[in-house]
Amino acid sequence: MKDELILRVQGLLTEFYTERGTVKAVHDVSFDLHRGERLGIVGESGSGKSVTNLSVLKLIQYPTGRIKAGKVLFKGEDLLGQSEESVRKVRGKHISMIFQDPLTSLNPVIKVGKQITEALRLHHKMGKKEAQAKAIELLKLIGIPDAENRVEDYPHQFSGGMRQRVMIAIALSSDPEILIADEPTTALDVTIQAQILELINSLSDDKGVATIMITHDLGVVAGMCDSVCVMYAGRIVERAPIDDLFYDPKHPYTEGLLNSIPRVDRDQNQRLHSISGAPPNLINLPPGCSFMPRCGYAMDICGKKTPPEIFLEGETKRTVSCWLHVKEDKHG
Ligand code: SF4
Repeated sequence: MKDELILRVQGLLTEFYTERGTVKAVHDVSFDLHRGERLGIVGESGSGKSVTNLSVLKLIQYPTGRIKAGKVLFKGEDLLGQSEESVRKVRGKHISMIFQDPLTSLNPVIKVGKQITEALRLHHKMGKKEAQAKAIELLKLIGIPDAENRVEDYPHQFSGGMRQRVMIAIALSSDPEILIADEPTTALDVTIQAQILELINSLSDDKGVATIMITHDLGVVAGMCDSVCVMYAGRIVERAPIDDLFYDPKHPYTEGLLNSIPRVDRDQNQRLHSISGAPPNLINLPPGCSFMPRCGYAMDICGKKTPPEIFLEGETKRTVSCWLHVKEDKHG
C-alpha cells in the first residue's frame, strides 16, 4: 500500500510581501508522499516547514503572500491550478490538518460534539442523529473516556491533551487520506505528547492515512516517521529514510541538529552542542549556501553558488544539498 503515490509536491516557491521586502519563505521544495507513509518535515522556526504545508493546502492569502511556482499533485491532479471551491472540497475531506494550539483552533462557545458533527454533516451529508453517534464513536476512538457525556462539554472543560485529541477527532471526521500535523504536541507535556503521537501512529497504521508531521523536534520524528525532510532557509537540504538520517547524517545542518539533542546511544558525559549563529534573513538571502555562516565545513564555492540537490551515490531515497557531496569536477 505504501507504494501508491498520493501526493507529489514539485518545485514549490512561496513568497510573502512585507514593507521591508520579499520574504522567500519556500524555495524549490519537492517531495512525494505515499499512502500510509509517515513523513517528517523538520527545521528551526522560519525554515519554511509550516508555509510548505499551508501552500500544499493552498492556504496562502494574497496579497500578503503568493505561491509563485510549483505543483501540488493530489492523486495526479494539480491543486494549485484548481478553483478555490474545488480545493476546499479536497481540504478538510481528503487532506486534514491538525494545528499546534487546539484552544485557538476550537470554537470556545460551541460544544465539542457540535464541532465534530458540523464537520461530519458537511463532509458526509449525515443527518443529525447519525452525526451525533459518529461523533461519540470518534471520541471513543481517540481515547476520550465517557464520550457519550463529554460531547456536551465545551473546549475549556477539556485538558490540553484531550483538546488535541478532539482536534484529531475533527480532522479524522472526514476519513482523510492525508493528515498534516503541524507541531501537534509542542504545547503538551512529554507524557501526553507520547500518547498523542502513539494515537496518530495507530490511526495511520489502522486506516492507512498518510501523515506529514511538521516539527522542530527530531525526537518526534524518530518515534513515528518513516522518512524525513530537513528544511533550512526555505529549502530541503537533506531527505532520507529515518534510520539513515539518524545514524549517518550527510548535511552539516542535520549533523548540528543531531548533536544538539540528547541520545541514549551516546556517551552520557559528552556535551551537547548548539549550532552557532542564527538562521539567515529570508528577505536578503546571501548568494550561495544559506547555511554557510554557520557551517564548520564551508569552502570557497559555498559562498558563490547554491548547492544543487543531488542523490547520494548508489541511493534512490537519500538526497542532500551540500557542496561536500558534489564531485569536484561538477563544481563548475
Ligand atoms: Fe556547509 Fe558548504 Fe555544505 Fe553549505 S554547501 S552546508 S556551507 S559545506
